[in-house]
Amino acid sequence: MLCQIMVLAMALLAYARAEQTRTKRDERDGMQVEKTDTLIVGGGQAGLAMSAHLKQAGIAHLILERDRIAERWRKDRWDSLVANGPAWHDRFPAKTFADCGPDGFPGKDSVVRYFEEFADEIAAPIRCGVEVTEVTALPGGGFRARTSDGVVEARNVVAATGPFQKPVIPPLVPELPDVTQMHSTAYRSPGALADGAVLVVGAGSSGAQIADELLSAGRVVYLSVGPHDRPPRRYRGKDFVWWLGVLGKWEMKTPPAGREHVTIAVSGANGGHTVDFRRFAHRGMQLLGMAEGFADGRLTIAPDLGTNIREGDANYLSLLDEADAYVVREGLDLPAEPEARHIPDDPACLTTPIRTVDLQSGDIRTIIWATGFVQEFGWLRVDAFDDRGRPAHQNGVSIVPGIYFLGLPWLSMRGSSFIWGVWADAERLAGHIAARRE
Ligand SMILES: Cc1cc2nc3c(=O)[nH]c(=O)nc-3n(C[C@H](O)[C@H](O)[C@H](O)COP(=O)(O)OP(=O)(O)OC[C@H]3O[C@@H](n4cnc5c(N)ncnc54)[C@H](O)[C@@H]3O)c2cc1C
Repeated sequence: MLCQIMVLAMALLAYARAEQTRTKRDERDGMQVEKTDTLIVGGGQAGLAMSAHLKQAGIAHLILERDRIAERWRKDRWDSLVANGPAWHDRFPAKTFADCGPDGFPGKDSVVRYFEEFADEIAAPIRCGVEVTEVTALPGGGFRARTSDGVVEARNVVAATGPFQKPVIPPLVPELPDVTQMHSTAYRSPGALADGAVLVVGAGSSGAQIADELLSAGRVVYLSVGPHDRPPRRYRGKDFVWWLGVLGKWEMKTPPAGREHVTIAVSGANGGHTVDFRRFAHRGMQLLGMAEGFADGRLTIAPDLGTNIREGDANYLSLLDEADAYVVREGLDLPAEPEARHIPDDPACLTTPIRTVDLQSGDIRTIIWATGFVQEFGWLRVDAFDDRGRPAHQNGVSIVPGIYFLGLPWLSMRGSSFIWGVWADAERLAGHIAARRE
């Protein structure tokens, strides 16, 4: 008898959950309005992580994605891109990569497959090819979303539209005959560029990896290097993502003071290696300081290359120091690696820095701007932004009840925009959404 009651209770619970996760269509003012509890805008890793946790909590929701699942990994990345973190780390806890060993770095197609499979496995209620054009608050509470396929009303809206939304090219160089300028999102492969030298501006992970690939393909490469961190890929047998974990750096709440705009140069390409700009230079790459202006057909370069390289080295060495101290503190048996402390000699471009680059000689035919992104929330017409137009939130919970942000850099911690980090943030936001219902 007890057994029958339990089976009945479980069946009722399952029915109730299924009912909760069904979206409803209404007719109002002759307009078809679809209703759901939580609307997720964006079907990348953030949208899918959110869906998984809402499903777990039995909360009805709908994901609208203007293109396809994980579109940015398909369209906005170069052909050879692999994940910056190893497969054991850059993944959802609930799923491993089927086609990549734990210490490997999955290629971008593999990452796309991973998210497509995940969406299938959790039966994510995702509708692709539907753009959310406007979200406004409803007078009685909740929100109305206008989309390219009708209207959706929801009690909550999660903006999961990505940490890197709109490519930015600083307005430094005017259009020049015979020089193609593109953002790093448009770069595909060395063979797709015009013959001739290439100037890469920006030496974060994208710029460093693209410049390295072009140099290996035999191109003459100029790389403009700003302030950066460059952790060792591996040290004492452990990947840097492991070190950042045990040293508590992934959970940091805010960037260290004065390092807010410092980029990080890491690479999983060719099995993963430490980004070392001195070694690039010894292989023939021309390193430059920050691009700062344009005059008489020449790009002018700031006198900061030496400082940027030396601060990058100091950052690298400081992580080795912290790792060594951790090994001693914890009594770990990890092989010592004194050779990791060897810093190559200053290359000529450091001792005699280049201060201008001729862009009219025909030598440089392509400029790749690896200069980052800005966020774009023009569609979200609610007062959830500060006076500089940035999302106003605490750990993703915005100042407007019912509006959430997910996947943004430093949303709740350093790891927030990474595959594994967004999972943890989504779990917390789902808890907040569930608590709102009660
Ligand atoms: C070159 C590069 C390499 C990276 N490598 C790694 C890595 O190795 N490991 C890692 O963990 N992270 C990596 N990242 C960081 C991060 O994982 C990715 O940027 C990831 O794409 C972020 O996922 P997301 O779901 O937050 O956003 P996105 O992938 O940007 O997804 C947002 C989605 O929202 C959709 N969208 C936007 N506006 C609307 C709208 N109005 N209506 C409907 N849909 C909309 C977009 O089409 C997009 O598909 C990398 C980032 C870059 C730029």
